[in-house]
Amino acid sequence: MTDVLSPQFSTQPYWTEALPPFGETGAAPPEQVDVIIVGAGYAGLSAARTLARQSRSVIAFDAVRIGEGASSRSAGSLGNVPKAKLAQINARYGEAVGREIYREARIAREFVEQLIRDEGIDCDLQTRGRVVAAHSAKAFAKLQAALPTFRDTMGSVEILSPDRQREEIGSDAFHGVLVVNSSATLQPAMLHHGLARAAIRAGAHLAEQCRVTDIRRSSGAFEVTAGGKAYRAAHVIIATNAETGRDTAVMRRLRRRLTIVPAFALTTEELAPGVMERVLPKGRSFSDTFQILHYMAPAGERRLVMSGRAGRSDGDLHTKARRLFSYFRNRFPALAETRVSHCWTGTFALSDDWIPHIGVEEGVHYMLGCCGVGVPMSTYLGHRIALKILGQQEQASAYDRPLPAIPYWPANNLFLPAAVRALSLRDRLFR
Ligand SMILES: Cc1cc2nc3c(=O)[nH]c(=O)nc-3n(C[C@H](O)[C@H](O)[C@H](O)COP(=O)(O)OP(=O)(O)OC[C@H]3O[C@@H](n4cnc5c(N)ncnc54)[C@H](O)[C@@H]3O)c2cc1C
Repeated sequence: MTDVLSPQFSTQPYWTEALPPFGETGAAPPEQVDVIIVGAGYAGLSAARTLARQSRSVIAFDAVRIGEGASSRSAGSLGNVPKAKLAQINARYGEAVGREIYREARIAREFVEQLIRDEGIDCDLQTRGRVVAAHSAKAFAKLQAALPTFRDTMGSVEILSPDRQREEIGSDAFHGVLVVNSSATLQPAMLHHGLARAAIRAGAHLAEQCRVTDIRRSSGAFEVTAGGKAYRAAHVIIATNAETGRDTAVMRRLRRRLTIVPAFALTTEELAPGVMERVLPKGRSFSDTFQILHYMAPAGERRLVMSGRAGRSDGDLHTKARRLFSYFRNRFPALAETRVSHCWTGTFALSDDWIPHIGVEEGVHYMLGCCGVGVPMSTYLGHRIALKILGQQEQASAYDRPLPAIPYWPANNLFLPAAVRALSLRDRLFR
């Protein structure tokens, strides 16, 4: 059998291959500002844009170059739904909170679409909807039972039984599908560049390759050390998500409330004529109902992007690509002759309740625990933190609740591979 990997297989993200480096960060930032932001991914940049538009002086520092972080490595899903299942949120926080969390996830997606339009960001935004395919009969029954709540929180949603799922996907391997009409896809690195430009246009300072190594309170403000230099600000926002390290005391404490897991994405070579239409007849994105879900969507006109579980932690990106792609090829017969051109990796930050959080720790604001839905949620919640600092919130966000502690948090996430395997096992056992 021929290898599914292209002879030109690359382990760099497909999205940045043809994108020129950002390189527009400009002059050195001032030493004193209203707000310092640690991390210039979607969350940090979105907060910077909102604050700067309200005439606040702001610097967003990033340890790496703009375009190298997770925000340029995602699969590009701009979805409507948090990672946590509605039943899980209801069980933990009650139905009223569950409803709000789901309702605000939709607002987050709408916010990002509006931002893209307002700023004229060219990032191939496609609002064609999402097909959620049930991986078992039980999963389909759960989708059916939750339909009224989905309609209430996500808008236009319909359910198709297995005999009609071919209208949406080129596969008979599932047990019926839910169609969410408003979900979108985009080119994530182009969104990230566009957001960085929008923040700069609004007056924010960006400093790349400038790691924050200390944050301490001093006379009612914060002293921040970045790139070896001292800065001062009235407010600090930590927007480091899965890259939250041990750089400062407050980051070390917050990191213990996150589980960091590896994530993988791939793109196919250009598809042969007719294949796209046979795999995803309406050009919608696809996901299944596993907790660690598989995702697929058009990447431009001729390729597909895929992400999801890629097997155990061992193995290089070649192995990961083969494993991940085999999930789709085994279920979508039209992919039989397709090959993989790129496969890359990054990390997810999972919170204990599988929802993103904004909050305040020792006077420092944070936006953490994106759980793999940061394209809408980091962008939206960065904006929400900015509104909070500006005192312009009409009501608190449902995501504004302290990041919960993780029981038995393993030092350095040493037992992480086991934890991820446990989730995969749970998916298989509780079908
Ligand atoms: C393979 C993959 C596929 C994904 N697919 C999707 C998807 O389809 N849809 C979706 O919604 N989400 C997806 N995600 C998740 C999404 O990419 C993230 O949730 C999102 O980018 C997080 O944005 P952020 O701004 O919160 O954090 P990031 O983009 O990670 O930004 C944090 C930044 O903080 C910086 N930093 C860390 N420490 C310091 C320090 N001490 N000083 C200065 N800077 C620091 C880091 O360098 C980093 O650039 C995917 C992620 C991966 C890896």
